[in-house]
Amino acid sequence: MSDTIKLVDYHVHPGYSIDAAPVGIDEYCVRAMQIGLAEICFTPHLEVDEARKHLDWFVRCNGRVMPMEDLQWLDFYFQEINMAREKFSPRLVIKAGIEVGYEPGREMYIEKILTGFPFDFVLGSIHCLNHVAISSKKECAVHFAGKTCAEVAQDYFTSLEAAVKSRLFDCMAHIDLYRRYGTVYLDRNNIEEMHRGYIEKIFKYMARHHIGLEINTSGLRRELGDLHPSKAIVQTALQQGVQIFTTGSDAHSLSEIGQGLQAAERLLKQFDLQAATFTGRKPDPQKGWTNLPTLP
Ligand SMILES: [Zn+2]
Ligand SMILES: [Zn+2]
Repeated sequence: MSDTIKLVDYHVHPGYSIDAAPVGIDEYCVRAMQIGLAEICFTPHLEVDEARKHLDWFVRCNGRVMPMEDLQWLDFYFQEINMAREKFSPRLVIKAGIEVGYEPGREMYIEKILTGFPFDFVLGSIHCLNHVAISSKKECAVHFAGKTCAEVAQDYFTSLEAAVKSRLFDCMAHIDLYRRYGTVYLDRNNIEEMHRGYIEKIFKYMARHHIGLEINTSGLRRELGDLHPSKAIVQTALQQGVQIFTTGSDAHSLSEIGQGLQAAERLLKQFDLQAATFTGRKPDPQKGWTNLPTLP
């Protein structure tokens, strides 16, 4: 690794997320420094699909599980971030992000939360199709049964296009999440091609509006054994003019932070790119950006 490349993890779930281990911000920061990260961005889940309220709308805060729509947890989150910054800066740069599970029709609710708190970075994700979590192996087993790749592609990319065009997000997370368990439950041969004809125009829109694309390493830890997105999709993003790429482990426990970041960096390096960082929802200036993306 050259001196100029500093590994950054821009997708980390602290204990607020109930699907993550009950680990505090401080503990993640200590671990981040131990493994030599230069910067960490926390991204607790915000889920907004009313049909899944009984399943997903919970956070762990102050040692107890509470409803996610009680936004008090975000006050605690920012307090914890600020305390960690006082403790660990300048050794570690700490950013406050969030990962929003997009749901069509919930744009105003999402916007109200995003503008109500001083986030550095907002990841947008498609976690659910027709109220079924495609991030879950169990739910995929049922949802994908009897479906063709073409049917899943139609649903997935319709939702992704709406998410991108909502302009609510700084960067799109694991943009080919359907591959996570699609490779298990759908036709493996078709799955690597199912983005074609859909994703090009989505990337063009992202490029025009300076929306980033995440290189997510969580697939390396699962059956998929590959990054999200695939190299072919990264190439398509570049062809369509996407300039901003972030790297994230999608860690849900201490042992997962930083995992696979070298592989993500290697992929970016092949295209002469480096991982972007954000402050106050704007990408930090980067060497080599001749035409620095500026948000309108
Ligand atoms: Zn996600
Ligand atoms: Zn995540």
